[in-house]
Amino acid sequence: MADVQAKPVPVPDGISRTYWEGASLGEFRYQRCGACGKAQFYARNACVHCHATDLAWHKAGGGGRIASFSVIHRAPLAAFAGDTPYVLALVDLDEGLRFMCNVLRCDPAQVRIGMPVRVCFESRPGSEQKIPQVEPA
Ligand SMILES: [Zn+2]
Repeated sequence: MADVQAKPVPVPDGISRTYWEGASLGEFRYQRCGACGKAQFYARNACVHCHATDLAWHKAGGGGRIASFSVIHRAPLAAFAGDTPYVLALVDLDEGLRFMCNVLRCDPAQVRIGMPVRVCFESRPGSEQKIPQVEPA
């Protein structure tokens, strides 16, 4: 039975393994389509823009901006109760993809749409897996 006091850790599968292995190495990996040139996140077997399967993995530079966010005051799991209030955000990376994460190392009241951020990697106790998050740039 899962420890309800522990934060969840991703379980990589065939399509997400490259992403999660990169995260544990301090790299934010994403797919770019060889047919239309657009980036996508999360990893899939076909391009969400043109349905081509000519996808290649790239490493993002880590820079981006807050597209939207919410301040969480009631933790969805007991494991996150000690973090409240914390920020859940949609972040647009410079490479043209959007991902969901937490904004770490800042006062939630200071977060703004358009705020520059950079990717950082959070460790979870008891796991080698690192979790991509962001912090103020
Ligand atoms: Zn495409």
